[in-house]
Amino acid sequence: MPQVQTARGPVDTAELGVTLMHEHIFLVDAEIQQNHPQEWGSEADRIADAVGKLNEVASLGVGTIVDPTVIGLGRYIPRIEKLAQQVDLNIVVATGLYTYDEVPFHFHHRGPALNAVLGTEVPDPMVDMFVGDIRDGIAGTSVKAGMLKCAIDHQGMTPGVERVMRAVALAHKETGAPITVHTHPGSQQGLAVQKVLQEEGVDPRRVVLGHSGDSTDADHLSELAEAGFLLGMDRFGINLETTFEARADIVVEMCRRGYAESMVLSQDASCYFDWIQQDLMALLPDWKYTHIHERVLPYLLENGVTQDQVDTMLIVNPRRCFEGA
Ligand SMILES: [Zn+2]
Repeated sequence: MPQVQTARGPVDTAELGVTLMHEHIFLVDAEIQQNHPQEWGSEADRIADAVGKLNEVASLGVGTIVDPTVIGLGRYIPRIEKLAQQVDLNIVVATGLYTYDEVPFHFHHRGPALNAVLGTEVPDPMVDMFVGDIRDGIAGTSVKAGMLKCAIDHQGMTPGVERVMRAVALAHKETGAPITVHTHPGSQQGLAVQKVLQEEGVDPRRVVLGHSGDSTDADHLSELAEAGFLLGMDRFGINLETTFEARADIVVEMCRRGYAESMVLSQDASCYFDWIQQDLMALLPDWKYTHIHERVLPYLLENGVTQDQVDTMLIVNPRRCFEGA
């Protein structure tokens, strides 16, 4: 029976149930948090708040969330390990690195950065970090990573972004863990991802192109679906530069075109997100774990998406992503 690693240990893929493929719990700048902890406040209060919110979405029938919070986004697995014991939900954690441009300074004089100096091909230490998180566990906790994550944004395939993506691809090939990529569909970065992952021999059926739902370009999304990728329609509730209807209607249109098997649904929500002045979060009242069940699914079903297609996007596709095709 194929299994997925979660914050409470391995789970059979058949037991994942309704799966939100891209939700965070805590997104913090860890160095700011450690040195200016006023806003973060009490660790116990933060955990209690998260436990409440996660149990609320579990009560709606969600069985699993994937938390792609990696290096660069404040990953701290001891905290996740602790709260996972208090929630009735599988939490899949990720390994990888989040940058839109350069690798962190830690990597500037390691691995391939030394190729020219040493006159030989130096393996990237990132690969061993990622593989270790998946095979052996993370930082002395009982938790192993179940997914790999990297990012590309409007800056495109910078040397740093490419280095991380190739390291993620190598770790994927060594472990079989699926990959999720933060993308910027407005500048069609999925095509740049396709090129690099193809060169590395990665099967696109094991790759989620995150934030595809930020786009309303059905032709572009169809091209990526045809290439085999899973499209992350995963920012429901972030209606700043777009609308509720625009996010939902592109899912309706892609289902109409026959691509329900190429989409996963999520919200990219979190319990604490420190990239924004906290009182401004009130501008995004729908940006929460329960929004899909409260508003999106009813809208999809009213507009021609079938329950079968909903189940495909929420249950079948996530399971297939973890199992391999
Ligand atoms: Zn995210």
